[in-house]
Amino acid sequence: MKINNRRLTETVLDRSCGVCNQSLIIDLNGIKFEEYGELRADWGYGSKQNGKCYQIDLCESCFTQALFVLRDARRAHVMFDH
Ligand SMILES: [Zn+2]
Repeated sequence: MKINNRRLTETVLDRSCGVCNQSLIIDLNGIKFEEYGELRADWGYGSKQNGKCYQIDLCESCFTQALFVLRDARRAHVMFDH
């Protein structure tokens, strides 16, 4: 009797930034790396956006840019909140 175990594997062929459309797959010496940041929300009943889901993949550059915008917003919030 022969029993086979079929293993299912999933390979990401390509993935791109949701802002600039740059590929998030980086090839280093023939080895592919998936490098990305992610902006994600799954709003529930207590929010104004109840039921809305967001998932945006970001390249390193766009992620850093988003981080700077949020950092500036936090700085402005702290500055004008006192
Ligand atoms: Zn990008």
